[in-house]
Amino acid sequence: MKYISTRDPSIQLTASQAILKGISPEGGLFVPEEFPQVDLDFIRELEGLTYWERAERIMALYLDDFSREDLKACTEGAYRGTFDGDRPAPVRAAGDLRLLELWHGPTCAFKDMALQMLPRLVSTARRNLGDDRRAIVLVATSGDTGKAALEGFRDVDGTGIAVFYPVDGVSQIQRLQMATQQGSNVAVQAVEGNFDDCQTGVKHLFAKEQLAERLGEQKMYLTSANSINWGRLLPQIVYYFSAYADLAASGEIQVGDKLNVAVPTGNFGNILACYYAKRMGLPIGRLICASNRNDVLTEFLTTGTYNRKREFHLTNTPSMDILISSNLERYLFELFGREARAVAYCMYRLNEGGEYSVTAEALDQIREEFAAYSCDDQKTLDTIREIHDRCGYVMDTHTAVAVNALEQYQQETGDRTPVLVVSTASPFKFADSVLTALGREVPAGEFDCLRALSEVSGLAVPASLAQLEELPVRFEGAVRPQEMEHALLHALRKMDESM
Ligand SMILES: *Cc1c(COP(=O)(O)O)cnc(C)c1O
Repeated sequence: MKYISTRDPSIQLTASQAILKGISPEGGLFVPEEFPQVDLDFIRELEGLTYWERAERIMALYLDDFSREDLKACTEGAYRGTFDGDRPAPVRAAGDLRLLELWHGPTCAFKDMALQMLPRLVSTARRNLGDDRRAIVLVATSGDTGKAALEGFRDVDGTGIAVFYPVDGVSQIQRLQMATQQGSNVAVQAVEGNFDDCQTGVKHLFAKEQLAERLGEQKMYLTSANSINWGRLLPQIVYYFSAYADLAASGEIQVGDKLNVAVPTGNFGNILACYYAKRMGLPIGRLICASNRNDVLTEFLTTGTYNRKREFHLTNTPSMDILISSNLERYLFELFGREARAVAYCMYRLNEGGEYSVTAEALDQIREEFAAYSCDDQKTLDTIREIHDRCGYVMDTHTAVAVNALEQYQQETGDRTPVLVVSTASPFKFADSVLTALGREVPAGEFDCLRALSEVSGLAVPASLAQLEELPVRFEGAVRPQEMEHALLHALRKMDESM
């Protein structure tokens, strides 16, 4: 299986190369040269398997330069024992809703599904290619991705990770999650300033040739863990197959029946993974794309025009506050019949003028595959409350945006095809909003919030959050943005000593 770039068909890489490179030099994203096809028997066989065995079967179709033993080590390492219970991605019933809960991992949000796997793929890809340099992952974070990446990369062979976060830009719990991070190859550094200062600082570090040379001499190189890496997208295909197999095993659907899916969407990675599963032969019907007030995707999928020249809103679904959905480029590539020049042209238009449009025929095709809706903060809270009143299920804000989109879809179309709602975060991750939605008082302290939500919902506070009150703080103090390079080098020396 070769991987090609969405902007230049002459670029062809192996899976290992695509994972280590992350992004193509001309700015394109790597996509498999074809979608491996599975039949209904393949899906039936998944029913009797564990999640990690399902992951191994599906990922093997794409990672043909990984040995089967290595792949097994990756999938077991990522999913066996690292999530609560033995089902990393269970499907829950709440009234007539079916929810795919993707937040039973170490950081209580769905990024764990991919970030528990990516480091293992990076480590194996290095060995496959005989690359003996150590991959140092640099992350600027406003909270969630940083912690998920730290948990994923901690103590993974041949890797190290350094995370920078804005000192006043994260919640108390997010700060503690990072400051207490365990592992011998991790570094966490608070930066004076806001998220932009942090991100700009990290971009400067990536661009510094002197730094790259200096690290090269020590057999290290800098890399990123962001959501356009193929190694993050691939593990997300697995849970759509897994959910389908679970619904079939419990008799809710017959293998072969169509299943619609509603996904709370930001960067378009999660919903794209579902589209890929469909292209492989999983019987998926409509993909319902749910956005918050930053409804750039809703507009694109319903009008055919992508326009990022709009006001940016901070919402109660912060992980979906986004104006440029990077992974949409991979869908455009399919929509345009894999015509790289057409993709490159749209991306050029987006860069230069802030917008692009697709043809009427392309829009027809989009409308066949997708439906798209958005909702504001108040409707998000209303949805949490309604579902709780109706069936006692407590969901987080992001999941509620998807439920709201599903309700709009069903009202508009009358389509009663079975449907799966993708639930992307634990309600405890956004406890203050959820308490507000349920009409409860919001205590001032964040740990008091968790306890209050536990009382209302009858759910236990996730252990990984509860223990933060006791874990020793390992990383303290803040640096100015111009001191980030020094902080990084210092951290790498300390990591070396503990290796
Ligand atoms: C990242 C994230 C999303 C958005 O997922 P994309 O793959 O970027 O579309 C939705 N909900 C939560 C809780 C997230 O962390």
